[in-house]
Order: sequence, then C-alpha cells, then structure tokens
Amino acid sequence: MSGFAHLEKEIQEWKTAGTFRPLTELESEQGSKVRIRGQEVIQLSSNNYLGLTTHPRLKQAALEAVEAFGAGTGSVRTIAGTFSMHEKYEKRLANFKHTEAALVFQSGFTANVGVVSSILSDQDVVISDELNHASIIDGIRLTKAGRRIYKHSDLDDLEKALQETQSARVRLVVTDGVFSMDGDIAPLPEIVELCEKYDALVMVDDAHASGVLGKNGRGTVDHFGLHGRVHIQVGTLSKAIGVLGGYVAGPKVLRDYLIHRARPFLFSTSHPPAVTAACNAALDVLLEEPQLIDRLWENTRFFKEGLNNLGFDTGSSETPITPVIVGDDALTMRLSDELFAEGVYAQGIVYPTVAKGKARVRTIVTAVHSKEELEYCLTKFEKAGKKLGII
Ligand code: PMP
Repeated sequence: MSGFAHLEKEIQEWKTAGTFRPLTELESEQGSKVRIRGQEVIQLSSNNYLGLTTHPRLKQAALEAVEAFGAGTGSVRTIAGTFSMHEKYEKRLANFKHTEAALVFQSGFTANVGVVSSILSDQDVVISDELNHASIIDGIRLTKAGRRIYKHSDLDDLEKALQETQSARVRLVVTDGVFSMDGDIAPLPEIVELCEKYDALVMVDDAHASGVLGKNGRGTVDHFGLHGRVHIQVGTLSKAIGVLGGYVAGPKVLRDYLIHRARPFLFSTSHPPAVTAACNAALDVLLEEPQLIDRLWENTRFFKEGLNNLGFDTGSSETPITPVIVGDDALTMRLSDELFAEGVYAQGIVYPTVAKGKARVRTIVTAVHSKEELEYCLTKFEKAGKKLGII
C-alpha cells in the first residue's frame, strides 16, 4: 500500500542510527526469568517489582472472577459497566491510601491524562516537572490551563513558577513520585511546603512507588508521612500490583468530578472482572506479605551496589529502577545485545524516551530474583562493560 513514504523515510533513519527495534516477544510467563526467541534469560526489564504477575492468589482470583462474572463488562463505567466489585475495590483502595475516595482508570496513562486534562480551566495553571511521565505531558497538552515546566526537582525553579503565576485561579503542581527513567524520588516534603506557602494543589504520580515505597507499598505520600497534604495521588495497577490499570486517590469531590468529566474514564470500557479481582487479591498480598517488599529492597541494594562497584554510572537512582547510563544510543543498544547473548535481558532506552546523550540500559530487579541470578547478571555486566569500553 502506498502513501506512507514519509513514515518509511523516518524509519529508515532509525534503522541507520541503530535505534529501530522490533517488539520483544515473551514466550513464557513474566518472572525472574523469561523465554525470548527460544532462549531462557534473566528478566531485568519488567516493572513486575513484587513478582505479582504470576502470584497464585492473583491468578486464582482472576479465574474465579471469570467463572462468576464472565470475560468482559460490555460497557463503559458510566452506562452499564460498573460492577459491584469495581466500587468495592475503589473503596478498599481509598482506605489503603488513607484518602476519602479512589477511582480506577483503564491504565496509569489514562488516569494521568484524565485528571490533568479535565480538572483545570483557562483561568488555571499547571506546573510540571520537566521529567514527568509522557502521560502527564499529554494531559497537559489537552488542558486549557496555562502551563509552566520547572527544572527537574529544582525547588528554586518551582518557587519561581509559583511566584509568577499568583493571578491564576488554581495552580496544580504535578510531579512523579519516583521518576521512571532515573529512579530518583521527588523531594515531595519540600514541594508540599512550597505548595502550602503559595496555596497550590499538589499531584503525585506514584506509578513506580505503588507497591514499592511506604508502609505495605502505599507510595511516596506514606513514605514521607504526608497524608492529608497531597491533594491528588495517581498510581498504577500495572507495575508492582502486577495486573493492569491506574487509579486516582483523593477527595470525594475529585472522584465525583472525574466520573463526569475525565474523558478516558467516560468513553472507554471498564476493566474485565478478572482484572479487578486480581488487583483486589494484590491488595491482600501487599497487606499480608510485606516481606516481598523487603525482599525487593534487599535485591535493589545488592544489585545497585554491585553495579557501582564495577564502575558503572547509575545516576541518581534511589529505588529499584537502576539505570546503567552509557550516553551514546548505538553503544547502549550494543550493551543490551551483548547482555542478551549472555542470558540477561536488559533493554536499552534511547532518545526520544530519554534525552539525547542520556541513553541507558535500564535495569529493574524484583522481589523474585534470587541472589544467584543477580550475581550472574553482575558478572555479565562486567564482561560486556569491559568489552565495550564502558567500564
Ligand atoms: N506514570 C509513570 C511514571 C509511568 O512510568 C507509567 C508507565 N510507563 C505510567 C504512568 C503509566 O502507567 P500504565 O502502564 O499503567 O499505563
């Protein structure tokens, strides 16, 4: 079919630059090891922080929900697609997060887009960290509000933005709780203080903190003891929770508003019963098996220290997301390929996902990696890193 020459041309450029990649197919379940192209490799690229994608309690809950309620819901939430289990789960989630209410979206992506695009008008301003996730950026593209981007976690720059927007009706300051490419944690207590000083709302995207930080994985707000001082908490059910979805936790008025105005919520079909039931079981696991979170952090410390001792640059990471920063796009992809040949799957991440010159192999250890698996990965990082002159 003709008519796509403009796309072909761009794709050819990516191929020349070595950044064009087919999608990687997993041929097994998502665990500490996966099978890719017939080869069993250690998985260092998933967000399956606690290993819940294959946890027996989640699988059993999903199976039972399919039997009892079927495979799909047949409607958007606002028409005929709200099952009792959706509402029950949201109440439980709100309770877990110590908020008045919670609302589940189809994904973390649509939760961010839904909130940021809907709750502000042209009299308002959204103030966003420059490294916030793409879904926040897209939400900002869709809002009628004015916009200010502040330098990454730079409190002076944030304060300047707050000072310069005092005539706005509402200011909404948005930050990732844990930044997805660098694994650093936002200085949330200081951000909250500034927002209190300048009377602005605070929103945190806890996609990489849900199930990871705070008591039983309650997120960055809990980690910093900021309950009641952060207006909007967004999180995902697709990473540590092991299933699929996103949520917004906050006051009831926010939930009521989103149900009526957040377009991804209004115009897209609700989660199948198996998804909601598995998410509910995941909440049981967070509450009853907190040792998984301890294990995740033990593995994180061990692996990060190992990479640093070998001389790799892991940037400002403070969480299980540990980037091995290489810089050059093509060299990053070579490191990833060398590792794969040795039985370690660690995906290279290049422009435009990260800025030019900041290409990295991003690693994420999980609670279900064994010490032996992580030691094996470190020896392979050492071998490939030396071969390519990175260390
Ligand atoms: N926010 C951040 C910071 C993320 O890293 C992601 C996932 N890439 C999302 C939101 C979107 O979450 P989901 O995969 O559930 O759509």
